[in-house]
Amino acid sequence: MGHTAKIVFDGVRKEFALPKRAGGRSVVTALDGIDLSVGAGEFLVVVGPSGCGKSTLLDLLGGLTRPTAGRILLDGAPVTGPGVDRSIVFQQYALLPWRTALGNVEFGLEAVGTPRRQRAERAREFLDLVGLGGFEGHHPHELSGGMRQRVAIARSLAYDPDVLLMDEPFAALDAQTRESLQDELLRIWRRTGKTVVFITHGIDEAVRLGQRVAVMTSRPGRIKEVVPIDLPEPTGEDDPRSSPEFARFRHRIWSLLRDEVSRAQQEEREGVAP
Ligand code: ADP
Ligand code: MG
Repeated sequence: MGHTAKIVFDGVRKEFALPKRAGGRSVVTALDGIDLSVGAGEFLVVVGPSGCGKSTLLDLLGGLTRPTAGRILLDGAPVTGPGVDRSIVFQQYALLPWRTALGNVEFGLEAVGTPRRQRAERAREFLDLVGLGGFEGHHPHELSGGMRQRVAIARSLAYDPDVLLMDEPFAALDAQTRESLQDELLRIWRRTGKTVVFITHGIDEAVRLGQRVAVMTSRPGRIKEVVPIDLPEPTGEDDPRSSPEFARFRHRIWSLLRDEVSRAQQEEREGVAP
């Protein structure tokens, strides 16, 4: 374990109890033997087949659930619950519909006790950062999906957590919006130096965003391989996704995932999965 590790998963296992069935199993193992560390300021992407335990992993890190075995360390101390040192952005926009964009960002600041007179100023600053200057007074229903997700990102950044946890935050958006939000997120990450753990099932998204991409096995989820992504920063008008290096990483991760998906399908046919 390096001394710069921000986050450490140490032999983490997570089981969920299921209602007992005659002759059936009463427990599902979502994660098993997860060892993973994330450096301070790193952008780590976790990719894996549907149902492999990605959300479970993020929920554990967010302190929303507890591991069955093993431990999760944040700055060397075990995670025992949620905290303002971490923020989570989910796929669905968890915005308050009756509040404006500004009010939604202020909401996060109220939670950490930012004095009232500083809230609006800081909320405005972060709406600017995500490209929503001028939309402060709009309510969620007046904003597009991409804009709502920008508000959610502004809200999670405004109270200055060390760690940003993102669970497929762009999955519900159209391809164009998704790509521009990916680029925005990278820009914001470089500017703020946050540690980011980003979950996705999208291979292009993983390669575009991650400094390293952790590929998970199908259930029970384990870390199959961690692939360092060493891409030159694109210049000017180039589509970063069109380079031969990008294609190589895409293929590498695609191959790792394909094996997992076919294994999961095989098990399903054989009735192994509950
Ligand atoms: P992913 O996000 O990769 O699609 P999840 O972490 O949501 O996967 O789920 C992993 C496995 O754990 C799945 O089999 C899912 O059904 C199961 N699971 C997740 N949450 C619960 C829960 N609260 N109770 C029972 N099973 C759960
Ligand atoms: Mg999930």
